[in-house]
Formats: sequence, C-alpha cells, structure tokens
Amino acid sequence: MARYKTMDMSPRLLPVDLEAQLVPGSFAHALHHLVDQLDLSAFDAHYRNDAAGASAHAPAMLLKAVLLAYAQGIVSSRAIERACRDNVLFIALTGDSKPHFTTIADFVSRSRDAIASVFGQVLTLLGKEGLIGRAMFAIDGVKLPSNASKHRSGTRAEFLAQAQKAERAAKAMLDRHQANDAGSTELAMDAKVRARIERLTNEAARIRAWLAENPNDRPGAHGAIRKSNRTDNESAKLATDKGVIQGYCGVAVVDASHQVIVEASAHGTGSEQELLLPVIEACTAQRNDTTLITADAGYHSEANLVALADRGIDALIADNQMRRRDERFAEQDKHTTKRDPLHDKSRLPKKPAVFSADRFVVAADLSHAICPAGKTLHRNGRNCTIGGYDAIKFRAPASACTDCQLRTQCVRKPDTTPVRKVAVLTRKAIVTHTQRMRERIDSDEGRAQYGRRFATVEPVFGNLRHNKQLNRFTLRGQAKVDGQWKLFALVHNIEKWANHRKVA
Ligand code: SF4
Repeated sequence: MARYKTMDMSPRLLPVDLEAQLVPGSFAHALHHLVDQLDLSAFDAHYRNDAAGASAHAPAMLLKAVLLAYAQGIVSSRAIERACRDNVLFIALTGDSKPHFTTIADFVSRSRDAIASVFGQVLTLLGKEGLIGRAMFAIDGVKLPSNASKHRSGTRAEFLAQAQKAERAAKAMLDRHQANDAGSTELAMDAKVRARIERLTNEAARIRAWLAENPNDRPGAHGAIRKSNRTDNESAKLATDKGVIQGYCGVAVVDASHQVIVEASAHGTGSEQELLLPVIEACTAQRNDTTLITADAGYHSEANLVALADRGIDALIADNQMRRRDERFAEQDKHTTKRDPLHDKSRLPKKPAVFSADRFVVAADLSHAICPAGKTLHRNGRNCTIGGYDAIKFRAPASACTDCQLRTQCVRKPDTTPVRKVAVLTRKAIVTHTQRMRERIDSDEGRAQYGRRFATVEPVFGNLRHNKQLNRFTLRGQAKVDGQWKLFALVHNIEKWANHRKVA
C-alpha cells in the first residue's frame, strides 16, 4: 500500500517575506503599487497630530486594506480588521499594521472628498494608458438598500400622527391602570405595562424631537412631497423588482472602450430622470465634444432631451416603448423570469386591448371613418391635440354600436359605454426631441449604437453586484454612501488597470 507524508496543519512560526506575498499580476500587487503612486494629501486634513498626539495609521495603508477587502466582497469593518490580523495577504498589504475596526469605519465614513480625489487620479492614469476611449459613455444605476429603516419613513404629517398615536396609547394604558387601582390597596404597576408606557412615551418624544429638527418636508418633483426618513433623511424609498427598499441609487458612467467607470455617484432619489443632467455634468472633464452619451428609458424625458440638445451633447436615450417597436425583442417575454408572488409588486397584466385606432379606416377627405364592423363613424373633432400630436376624433352612432357583435372587442366597458369613440393621430406639427430620438434609435445605426450600451455597462454592474457581492450600502447619509460607492468603482477601475498591465 502506498504511503504518503502527513500534512501538518498545526500553527508554528514561519519566516514570511511579506512583500513576496503580493504576487505580480494579482490585484493586491497592482493595488499596492498603484496606491503608492497617488497623492493622498487630501486625507491629511483630518489629522491634527503634527505637533502632539500619537501617530495615526497611514491613509495609504487603510485605503489598500479597504480596497482589497471590497474586491473580495468584505465590507464590514470588523471583518476587515479580522482579515488584517489573520489573512497573510492583508497582513502583507498593510505591513502588519492591524488597524482597529473603528479606525477603518471612520476612514471610510469621513473620506468622501479624498476618495473622489483618488478616483480622479486613477482616471488620469487610466486615460494616459489609453484605457478611456471617450467615444461612448453609458449611464446606468443600481438601487441598493442602505443602513436606514424603511419603516421609519413618511411625511411630517404621518410622523406627527404616529407620535400622537403613541401618546394616546400610553395615556390610555396609564388611565386604565389608574382606574383599576382606584379603591385598591395594590398600587404597584405591572413591570411590563410600565415598560410599554415608557417605550411609547420615548418613541413619541423621539418623533417630536425629529420633527422639531426637521421643520419642512423634503421637496419632490413637480411640487410633490418626498417621504422623509427618521434614520437617514437623505435616503429614499426606492421601487425595485424585489419590492420597495430604503436606500440609494448608485449611478455609474462607463466608457465603452475598456469598461472603465468615469463617474460614480450615489443619490437619495429613485428618479433617474432628475439624475441624468447632474451625472453628465459631473463627467464633463472626461468626455469630449464627440462623446456619445447613452442611457436607458429611466433617464428619458422630453425636458432632458431638450437640455442635452441645448448643450450640444450627443446622446442616445431610449424611451419606454423602444423594445416594443424593435422586432428583435418580439419574443422577449419567453426569457423573462417568472413572477415571484412574495416580492413582485408590479401590476398584473392588463386585459387584452380593444380595437386600436389603426383598425379604423379614415376617409380621404377625413370626413368619416369605417370601423371593423363596417359602420360609419362621424367626425366630431378635427383640430385636437393628444399627447402633443394633432388628432381627429370620430364617434359611432348609437344605432351602430348597441347591437354590434364586435362590441366586446371594441369598447372597454361594454356594459356601460354606449358607443365607440376613436382618435386618429396624425404626425406632430412640431417634431419634438422625443420624436427625433425615437427615429434615431429605431434606425439601424441607432440600434447598433444602443446595443453597445448593454455590453458596456451591464458587465460592470454584474462585476460589482455578483463578484464583489455589493448588495447593500452599509453606511448612513449621502456623503458616506457616495464615498462607499466610489470605493467600489475604484476597485473596478484598479482591476481594469491591473488586467491591462498583465496583458501589456
Ligand atoms: S362597437 Fe361600434 S364602432 Fe365598434 S365595431 Fe361595433 S359598430 Fe363599429
């Protein structure tokens, strides 16, 4: 029988060359050498120990530890501290510094501006190495939960009602106790009741204190009120395909040439339309006059298209009907995942549509239209505008529709709607930017360009969400979350740089 040497896994003292653990070609090696090239003076402003006090951990060491941890899907500062103590790669990268988790958490939380400076420097480096083509930028975002409670969200009026309800409940319990105790020698209140009254009173006091600190509701789009949140008032309630979350939308602008993220920012709003212009503005330094900006239907609005045209920015922004018009997506429903009844809050499919306007044949002189049953509908409006289109309206006579056999296919509510009315749209007198954009995106060139958007931006989010296990922001407040999102974008870009150098 063959005999093998036994493996001894017991701990021992070994001579380890820390530098040798950073294997050339690995992410850790690239990170180590890249961070050492950067100007990290932006981190210095926080420290006040020039003349007195203990030496602080070097920002370069902390930045390396955090970026390596994020690259491995480790986000918790306690887990990073453990890795810096136990994992030889982290020990090598941090020079066995063993930073405390509070130091790591504080570093990530307070360094948004310094991280932005590092992000910019890495972009400059990537630009010099030819990794940013600037021919096309693709914009997309991901909505992620953050360290905020969805249940502490509402308008000021709703919070006030919650406080009043808690106060009423506490008072009712107190009154009930006093009524029960009248004439009794037993005066001691049940500990559970006392604790509950205390909890309700404290909760009401906390809500009232919050209301005093935040005297106004958050303004939303078009004069609406945006829900506030008592744990993180800069986060937002966001609708996702997994239900409603409380968190932030991380937006990234990705260059098509090597999928480098040229701009990353986190926002406490679910309205992508209002993010388009600020995000494009933020990446002005990275794009040139011919850079094509692409974005999906979430970023589409006539106002955005007008603003882009006014600024001379070449953009290809899809509208929400783009896929319906594209015959390549005719069978897309086959590939969609089944609805999850536990999470899917989207509406049920609509009932089959009734006869659309194109089933009605309009006479050449526009005086009448013929319906699918062959009946004549008379014109009852010529110079109408519907959704910005010129339209002609027709109405069937009651005698035609009452006993029509096609009635159930023609009117939405056959029991209550007496006759069918139809509006036939004619081309817009004034061609809007939306109309122009539709024509452009439906052209062969537009489809080819827009198709590249998927291949540009989706793998980046796949890398961050799946490989880096980014499934939530762990911080509270827009500035902190923005810094964390930029750190993840930095990890992605440094990986690009490392892989490029490996190939070169
Ligand atoms: S319901 Fe009226 S308009 Fe519709 S097909 Fe019948 S007759 Fe024509």
